[in-house]
Amino acid sequence: MEEKVTISRALEILQTYPILSHTEIIPIHVAHNRILAEDIFSLVDNPPFDNSSIDGWAVLSSNDPKKRIETNPIFAGDLPPPLLQENQAIRIMTGAPVPPNADALVMVEDGIHGPAHSNFIRKKGENIEKGEIALSKNSILTPAALALIASIGHASVSVFSKPKISIIPTGNELVSPGEKLEPGQIYESNSISLAALVSRAGGAPTISQPIDDDIDSTRKKLDECAESSDLILSSGGVSMGDHDFIRKLLIEEGEPLFWKVGMKPGGPPIFGLWKGTPILGLPGNPVSSHIVFLTLVVPWISHPDLFYRKIKVNLQTTLKGSPNKTTFRRIKIHSGDEITATSQTHQGSGNIVSMVANDAISVLPPNTNGEINDIIDALWLID
Ligand code: AMP
Ligand code: MG
Repeated sequence: MEEKVTISRALEILQTYPILSHTEIIPIHVAHNRILAEDIFSLVDNPPFDNSSIDGWAVLSSNDPKKRIETNPIFAGDLPPPLLQENQAIRIMTGAPVPPNADALVMVEDGIHGPAHSNFIRKKGENIEKGEIALSKNSILTPAALALIASIGHASVSVFSKPKISIIPTGNELVSPGEKLEPGQIYESNSISLAALVSRAGGAPTISQPIDDDIDSTRKKLDECAESSDLILSSGGVSMGDHDFIRKLLIEEGEPLFWKVGMKPGGPPIFGLWKGTPILGLPGNPVSSHIVFLTLVVPWISHPDLFYRKIKVNLQTTLKGSPNKTTFRRIKIHSGDEITATSQTHQGSGNIVSMVANDAISVLPPNTNGEINDIIDALWLID
């Protein structure tokens, strides 16, 4: 097992256990936000034929505008019209095929004798040509990407299957929301955020009831989840505490691969295999588990575009960094002419309010602080 690895080393290790390995073919109308498992090539020229982008007349630009004579109209969906004769101006609607020799269009607003424009003809294949690559493997199927796929003739696409991901919250102190809180207890929230994050990542989450800090129930739960899932994400129990049984079990009875990552918050994640199934033990503090998911799980099993944009911000707050660790502070973006950022809340890793009141995460390299007017890297979170 490697201890105290850098974020990039942790990612290297994680990526040797690919979670997105199965693919499936699904209709495009249910493919929103899925991840493409193949390059997509155009089946047609788009547009498939020269057509009009306006309502007006198709003409020969060499003709005298004053002598134009209107001929029978042509509509979208009609067969391509015959060649234009001298002085003919064929009435044409948006999307209709232009006569093969027409080289200009006159807008209906300008009248039949108005100026002729060559740029209103949408040329065959000007958007994308038959056989050209339209989208590459691993692209996210956004609404626009799906429209592109439809417009080049595909009814279905090959996407990565949703990995089955078990989420196990651990801790004697945890009570599900809705129940009565007794002294010493807190409401369990990590499984809720992790399930939402997993869904956005393109996975299929299954949330377990919180398990007690007890070695036998932890082992039993890990056995169960290893059987039924492609990946286990646990929360809590990975640190140095006497009751941190995820860490203890993985090290003593599983196949641990790394423990502790050079990041703050979120230092103590542990990764390994339990009965052959990858398990990433996330820290219990709500901000820590969230940030470990964003930094380690997202690039591993999903696509950063679904979660954040990497940007530079002009800092209007000082931010404390940490020795030997990348520091992820919660900051708020102000987007005027220049993108600036401040910090709105205290930065404790137990303070989930800080994830809601702010909308970005600073990325302070190890051994650096952020000073006012520094330009620093940040991840601007997508709502
Ligand atoms: P641990 O990593 O188990 O030592 O937990 C660190 C802190 O996170 C403790 O204060 C826990 O009470 C808290 N915590 C652990 N799991 C959860 C959870 N599922 N939801 C909310 N807070 C949690
Ligand atoms: Mg605990």
